[in-house]
Amino acid sequence: MHSITGQLSLKPGREKSVLNRHPWLFSGAIARVEGEPQPGDLVQVLDGNGRFLATGYFNPHSQIRVRLLSWDADELIDDGFWNGRLQQAKRHRQQLNLEPATTAYRLVHAEADGLPGLIVDKYGDFLVMQSLTAGIEAQKETILAALNQIWQPKGIVERSDADVRQKEGLPVINRVASGEAPPETLVIQENGIQFGVNLLGGHKSGFYLDQRENRTAVTQPHHVANKTFLNVFAYTGGFGLYAIANGAQQVTHVDSSYDALALAEQNVGCNGWKRPQDEYLAGDAFEVLRHYRDTNQTFDIIVLDPPKFAHSQRDVERACRGYKDLNWLALRLLPPGGLLATFSCSGLISADLFQKVLFGAAVDAGRQVQIIQTLTQGPDHPVLLTFPESAYLKGFLCRVW
Ligand code: SAH
Repeated sequence: MHSITGQLSLKPGREKSVLNRHPWLFSGAIARVEGEPQPGDLVQVLDGNGRFLATGYFNPHSQIRVRLLSWDADELIDDGFWNGRLQQAKRHRQQLNLEPATTAYRLVHAEADGLPGLIVDKYGDFLVMQSLTAGIEAQKETILAALNQIWQPKGIVERSDADVRQKEGLPVINRVASGEAPPETLVIQENGIQFGVNLLGGHKSGFYLDQRENRTAVTQPHHVANKTFLNVFAYTGGFGLYAIANGAQQVTHVDSSYDALALAEQNVGCNGWKRPQDEYLAGDAFEVLRHYRDTNQTFDIIVLDPPKFAHSQRDVERACRGYKDLNWLALRLLPPGGLLATFSCSGLISADLFQKVLFGAAVDAGRQVQIIQTLTQGPDHPVLLTFPESAYLKGFLCRVW
């Protein structure tokens, strides 16, 4: 279904965000709905005087009532539209020149690639797609056909199991959507390092692709060679494997998931490394850090890469306390001159706020902290200027004395 089934008029004075090309239109800005658009249908957005502003897709179940796709009245949202946006995303990724050292990266970063609600990641010969909204759900067959045509993958896995789907009134879907099923553990390469990835069962689409550049930055040989490295929230090894590749003397991986740590250990072997000195600790990161503090253990470099702490505005204060505690604990385990790489992937916590939290942790820990590098998501996760929400990952590489 590509035809427009409704027209929405905005309240007077509420057109600014649409004119500024923010892709979300909230329910509070809408004065009237004409026609009977169903969830996922295409609608036109008009200003208070009936003038065309944009075209998007509608969902009455979500506070984000419309996600905007085009600001051009003459642009049809047909198969050619979806194909064109996907082709453009492909060109932009090719320009990043990630292959062949890196075989897994993000192809489509939703709103930031002009495709609200759609995420597509490439893992070797397979694609993983996530449909997050009713509008993408309605176009899924068109999109799957275009993905097959443009990238010719062996198979496409659908991981439409993100929590945000609930807000859209959509069920959880986890399936092979087309072609072959991937092997249970698919081996991909990131900057020449091998990682086993479980596309149907792993976190997100299987791997934290957004940290690729940060893994490189944090584990430069001059930072890690012959050093002890504590990889907190290790998942399947990520930063720790890079640290090994760059000469770390000993790496300790901490994660609450046994399965993730088992895969981390397997990944080390898969790269041909023999590392009897390394440790894999399953447990709660806060408890493990407290234990190290109580036993006066130190590490030369610590990475803190926790899961998202703030899921809604209500969570922000509690999330900040969590980040502060975590960083306060970690700062106390570093010798003078030690390095802390600390991250937040909570979109609701800005880099400024995160820096303030870190400041509070440093003061309370009685340590001087220098930021030596600011870190963000990789270039395959672009940030659209008209959609600052697309910037969600922030981090600091700090020297502590
Ligand atoms: N640094 C990883 C990604 C980390 S994702 C990489 O580079 O790939 C966050 C991880 O935190 C997940 O693996 C999750 O299992 C783990 N986790 C969540 N809560 C935790 C807790 N309280 N203690 C320890 N690990 C936790």
